[in-house]
Parts: sequence; C-alpha cells; structure tokens
Amino acid sequence: MLKLTHKASGRHFLQIPGPTNVPERVLRAIDNPTIDHRGPEFQVIGKKLLSDIQKIFQTEGPVVIYGASGTGAWEAALVNTLSAGDKILMYETGHFATLWKKMAQRLGLDAEFIPGDWRQGVDAERIAQRLAEDRQQQIKAVCVVHNETSTGVTSDIAAVRRAIDGTGHPALLMVDTISSLASIDYRHGQWGVDVTVAGSQKGLMLPPGLSFNAVSEKALAASKTSGLPKSYWAWADILEANKNGFWPYTPSTNLLYGLSEACDMLLEEGLPNVFARHTRFAETTRCAVRAWGLEVFCANPAALSSSLTAVLMPEGHDADKFRRIVLDNFDMSLGVGLAKLAGKVFRIGHLGDFNELTLMGTLAGVEMGLKLAGVPHQPGGVAAAMDYLTSKLQ
Ligand code: PLP
Repeated sequence: MLKLTHKASGRHFLQIPGPTNVPERVLRAIDNPTIDHRGPEFQVIGKKLLSDIQKIFQTEGPVVIYGASGTGAWEAALVNTLSAGDKILMYETGHFATLWKKMAQRLGLDAEFIPGDWRQGVDAERIAQRLAEDRQQQIKAVCVVHNETSTGVTSDIAAVRRAIDGTGHPALLMVDTISSLASIDYRHGQWGVDVTVAGSQKGLMLPPGLSFNAVSEKALAASKTSGLPKSYWAWADILEANKNGFWPYTPSTNLLYGLSEACDMLLEEGLPNVFARHTRFAETTRCAVRAWGLEVFCANPAALSSSLTAVLMPEGHDADKFRRIVLDNFDMSLGVGLAKLAGKVFRIGHLGDFNELTLMGTLAGVEMGLKLAGVPHQPGGVAAAMDYLTSKLQ
C-alpha cells in the first residue's frame, strides 16, 4: 500500500495555495463504495450536488461539472462559446492569466493581452478603454482571473462588469475563480459573469480532479453557434443528462461524494462566514510578514488576496532554498515562485480547511525557516499574528 509520510509523526502541512488539505469529512465521504452511476442511488446524489454547487457559485443557472483539472475547465469555457479566429481580450495578472492566453492562442483564437506588472490586479478602466475603441465590436469575450494564484493578487470582478456595461459592449465575461471560489466572495449571478471557471482542489477542499463551468443564459446562447470543435467539453450533452442527475459518460463518482460533503460543510458554516474566515487569516498572515520586515508581493492594498500571500525574498536569498529548509525541518510545503517569480517569492496558502491553529503552525514554520535559512528578518511575526488574531476575538 502506498504510504506517504514525510515525517515519522504528526501530519504534513500542505500550505501551498492548492491543492489544499482535505478535511476528514470529505475523505470519509470519498471512501464510500463506488456505485452504479446510472442507478437510482447515484441520481439522488447527482441532483443534490448539482443544486448545492449553484449556491457555492451564487447562481441560479447551470453549473457544468467535469472530471478534469482546472485547465480542462479553461478550455471548456473557450470552446463552448467561441469560434476560430475570434478576438478576445485577456489581462496579464500573472502566470495563470498567461497560461490561459497561451491556451486561447493554441485553440486558434486571436487573444489580445492587456499588459500588467503582476502586482496590481485588473484595472477595469483599461478594459473599458479597449472596448470603447472596438467600434466594430469584434471582441467576443473578456477573460480575467479573479485571484491570481501566482501572485496573491485579486481583481474586482463587479468593476469589470460595470466597465463592460458602461461601454455597451456585448462581449462575454469569463472569469477564472480556481483559487477564489469558496474562499473569496464571488457572485456569478449578481456580477453578470457569463462563464465562471473553477476547480475542486482549493477552496472546495477536495483532491484535484473536478472542475467547473458556471454558465449564463448569454453563454448558453453563444454555445449554440460557437464553431470551435468540442466533444467531451460540450455543455449541451452534459446539461441534458444533468436534468435527471446523471452525466453522459462515467463521472468521477467518488470525487462527487466528496463534493457533496464539501458543499454541506461550506453551507453549514455559511458562505459569509467562510469568506470572513479567509479574510481574517489573510490579514493575520500579512501582520506576520510585516513584523518580519518582509514585503508582500501584491502592491495594491485593494487587491490583497484572502486565499494566499506571496512573500518577496530579500535580494540575494533564494526562495526555493528557504522552502526546502522548511520542508525538511518542519514537514511543511509552501508554494513555489512561478515563471518570472521563480526563486524570488514563496507563497503561503491560507485557504480551504484551515483554522487559527493551522495558521499559527504555518506561520511558526515560516518564522523558524527564515531563521534556519539565514534570511534577514525581524523576529516576532508569530507574536504579531497572535496579537491580531486574539484582538479579533476580544
Ligand atoms: N488558474 C488558476 C488561477 C490556478 O491557480 C490554476 C492552478 O493552480 C489553474 C488555473 C490551472 O488549474 P489546474 O492546475 O487544476 O489545471
């Protein structure tokens, strides 16, 4: 039997910004026997979770669930709505926005990137300007990442919606919420998003392997005429089968058990409480970073992420060496710096199944690691974090 234990005792701290720690309740749900995915027992589960998941996306419209990683749901969003050569507007918030743009280009779309320095988030005004210039209305979609997992920068999606509406432009709005759904407030319906992309392995507290498209009426209409080839990803077949609680092919039965349980947990806690918990833990983390005298990578206070914090390493110090010291000594995984941030930042994931003491353990591991790695810093980050956390309870 496969046995993965980094240390002889205690549990591994998986503090990367996804996949996140899977709670016992979800693990126990996944542990149930696999059943007939075309039988009556499955149908009850299918109908229940298809309804629950709408509450998580804050939508009354359909949510398509795929057996795929988030990258699959990126592709599904594009191929269901667009045709070869369509112009789309994307925004360079970081590594994941860049990957989505590359995918769009590979699929034969004409993807234009609004450049960014990765530290600010989306400036909705720049989207409005570009759409206003597009008098022929050739831009078919605006695609943005809600929470850039590579940088810890969040963008204001309601502002993007207002920017599009302000120009009267008919472009679809597509949003990647892979590291924000069920961690940071996100309202597919109220914010008028046409396609929301999400994955199972972050705020939803599941293992990797499921991903999602929440779909608006307008996106459904676009899917009727879109010309890009699609088969596995085609919404129509899945939505038809979903009407009866089924899938057109074999769904990821056991992950769907886990999804049902995770939805129960989130809805029992209440989404506003889930979001407040993430906000509180993010601010606690930043209290520690400030006390250490280190710099949070996000340079815009309005865009600070509640699901992760990327921390800049002081000049001349390698973030990967530091992360390795933390892993070897304290059995904790921290997030790697991606693409141009390789070796320059480390990322602390504070999302998903996470409480005060998990957070304090995480921050203690970072502070001890800084010391062991000889990274110049002030002691006292953990103490500052404890002060902040207790002040919130008094
Ligand atoms: N988009 C964002 C914001 C992500 O954080 C990730 C993965 O971390 C992806 C897309 C890609 O998702 P996956 O690795 O599940 O394919």
